[in-house]
Amino acid sequence: MIELKNVTKKYGNFLAVDDISFNIEEGEIVGLLGPNGAGKSTTMNMITGFIEPTNGEIIIGGYDVLKNPIKAKKQIGYMPEGVPLYNDLTVKEFVRYMADLKMVSKQEKKQRIKEVLEKTNLTEVQNKLIKNLSRGYKQRVSLAGALVSNPKILILDEPTVGLDPKQITEIRELIKSLGKEHTVILSSHILSEVSQICKKVIIINKGKIVAIDTPQNLENKTNKGSIIKLIIEDETNQIEKIAKTITGIKQINFIKDNEDGTKEYTIITEEKTDIRKELFAKCAKEQMTIFELKKSEATLEDAFMKLIGNQEEEVDN
Ligand code: ADP
Repeated sequence: MIELKNVTKKYGNFLAVDDISFNIEEGEIVGLLGPNGAGKSTTMNMITGFIEPTNGEIIIGGYDVLKNPIKAKKQIGYMPEGVPLYNDLTVKEFVRYMADLKMVSKQEKKQRIKEVLEKTNLTEVQNKLIKNLSRGYKQRVSLAGALVSNPKILILDEPTVGLDPKQITEIRELIKSLGKEHTVILSSHILSEVSQICKKVIIINKGKIVAIDTPQNLENKTNKGSIIKLIIEDETNQIEKIAKTITGIKQINFIKDNEDGTKEYTIITEEKTDIRKELFAKCAKEQMTIFELKKSEATLEDAFMKLIGNQEEEVDN
């Protein structure tokens, strides 16, 4: 559905996007994840045809964005970062204006506007001026504008920036439901957002792709050696002695003394070994009470920091 081949964008001498290639299949919800300045907006603007790549090829639904811009762009609904600028229009006027820009046919227009206002939960405020709406509503107006031509592809640039937690939840749910009918590509610098909404993540840093995978696989890849958190009554410091008798423990680190007299440790074990049962039994035998014993999994955040960290090392070397 979306195909980028060796795409590069230079602003003057500055390389904002550096030779990136990826494919997005029909019906996928894909997250473009990266820190600020990574090149996410530039990439999205090239896909939507707003800016031209310096090099490379972008194919949207079989059409080259540069050679066949009208056919390529027709398939895309774009929600830019920020909110609609047409503050003096009502919600409905704005959506109608977007329908005209996208050349939605006269016969279809009325029905499409009605549908899209319903889908984005805006029917009740359709006659209000955009300037009088809250940030969350404005974001939905922008989304309605992107949806009105019923595009196959939806491109959403930082869809939750500036929203409060309730609005964030609402817009995420809305995006997830839109994923049933559209191919969605959204950018975000928020990891949890991408892992909650997207099936596939493209991590980009300093204009380069550092990983393309499912959120789950990215988490698993960094989960080298399991980490166990242990809170225990251990007045006589026996835990290190016990740890030595258990195969699979690589390291035990004392973290802190808690106010209730317990001690907190992290235990690093070999990959795929679960030492919890043995540890529990041995501590019980010594009459040491365990208050907490749990695996802490590597998170997408760990994966992200690791991938980006690796790239920094490569650059430094
Ligand atoms: P992101 O969306 O990931 O925050 P951008 O694509 O906006 O990143 O920007 C990538 C890099 O390109 C940044 O370093 C930014 O300063 C630079 N950049 C973006 N637009 C321009 C421009 N029009 N002229 C010069 N540099 C730009």
